[in-house]
Amino acid sequence: MDLGFTAEEEVFRNEVRTWLDRNLPAEWRNGGVGGYREDADESMQRGWQERLNEAGWLKLSWLREAGGRGATPVMQAIYQEEMAKAGAPVILGRLGVSLLAPTLLVHGSPWQKETYIDKILSGEIVFCQGFSEPDAGSDLAGLRTRAERRDGHWVLNGQKTWSSGAHYSDKSFLLARTDAGADVHKGISFFLVDMHQPGVEVRPIRQMTGGGEFGEIFLSNAVVEDRDVVGQPGDGWKIAMAVFGFERGGLAQAARFEQAVAQLATLARDRGTGSDATVRQKVAQAQIEAHVFRLIGLRNLTQAQQGAAPGPQASMTKLYWSEMDKRIQETAVGILGLYGALAPDSPFAIEDGRWQYGWMWSQAETIYAGSSEIQRNIIAERVLGLPRGR
Ligand SMILES: Cc1cc2nc3c(=O)[nH]c(=O)nc-3n(C[C@H](O)[C@H](O)[C@H](O)COP(=O)(O)OP(=O)(O)OC[C@H]3O[C@@H](n4cnc5c(N)ncnc54)[C@H](O)[C@@H]3O)c2cc1C
Repeated sequence: MDLGFTAEEEVFRNEVRTWLDRNLPAEWRNGGVGGYREDADESMQRGWQERLNEAGWLKLSWLREAGGRGATPVMQAIYQEEMAKAGAPVILGRLGVSLLAPTLLVHGSPWQKETYIDKILSGEIVFCQGFSEPDAGSDLAGLRTRAERRDGHWVLNGQKTWSSGAHYSDKSFLLARTDAGADVHKGISFFLVDMHQPGVEVRPIRQMTGGGEFGEIFLSNAVVEDRDVVGQPGDGWKIAMAVFGFERGGLAQAARFEQAVAQLATLARDRGTGSDATVRQKVAQAQIEAHVFRLIGLRNLTQAQQGAAPGPQASMTKLYWSEMDKRIQETAVGILGLYGALAPDSPFAIEDGRWQYGWMWSQAETIYAGSSEIQRNIIAERVLGLPRGR
């Protein structure tokens, strides 16, 4: 296995770095966990999206025929790594850009591609994801929101929850049941719903971080036209699986965790706990885990470069990094001692409360994009060949 990068790839890395030096203002850097913070300034996130789009970065991985740069998986990883190292913020329309636009490229009608893709990338239309429901999260096929044909339209009724960015989104890509009599997976359709209509109400959910990143969506006779159904009615499950393929396909978060461990070591030194045996063991362990994660990333990258689909190792990777991050954050708040119990916005919080915030946010990481238990089920069945659990 060759762990090095080619000369061409290093040239590309330099291109990304140079562009970041010129285009990412200092005050936009290091805005939060992995470049993400729920209370981040929306206009900054929008401005950053515009800059990335104008420079063509948002289409980096797209085929040249689709107007992209046709970047290899290694180039995409280099790009993500440099963004993480520079502390770049997360863009406002991240769900539309990373999940919906590539899905529409494959499954969208010519009208949908023409109408939405450029506007999703530019941030003119911001989408949220309306999949989860109060009784349908891990078991998504249990969703109950229904869509019926009435007077030549689709009419939607039901409730969605945990929808990130619902309160500032213009549209939602949403799953609803269109055929109650069909097999659970077959009776579902994929809709693009206008969030600004009277039949749609968003109620923010307040989180323990103090932020209100996501919300509930109530649909009461919300109307969708035929042209906003993606694929055919009944194709929703297949298209949702395509969306998940993009969600779990992320590469190279290694830089983020290596930085976190370096900051953890600095914190231990600054707080005078660097010589404490327990702290030293935990920080060293975090360093080892972060390094192993880089090697896992490189192995995944090698496979992706050879054209292999991610398969169950995507579950191992998600499980590994999300559980590791929880341990890193827990070590940090432990080092802070009683200061670790302060709210992040307390005037007495160390380093602007970033570690307490990071600890709280890390609790979500083992839930979204497939919880740890679900990832372990997949590994047990598909890697270890164990029988399905009851
Ligand atoms: C920060 C964040 C952002 C999110 N953003 C969005 C969004 O934008 N759009 C959206 O649609 N959803 C979003 N979600 C929702 C997310 O997809 C769900 O939280 C996730 O799928 C889990 O579903 P649930 O919360 O209903 O938990 P449940 O599925 O009810 O699970 C509860 C517990 O039971 C465990 N469990 C469930 N089934 C099994 C099983 N078969 N075997 C073993 N254990 C099991 C789970 O692991 C978990 O511990 C977001 C979630 C978070 C935390």
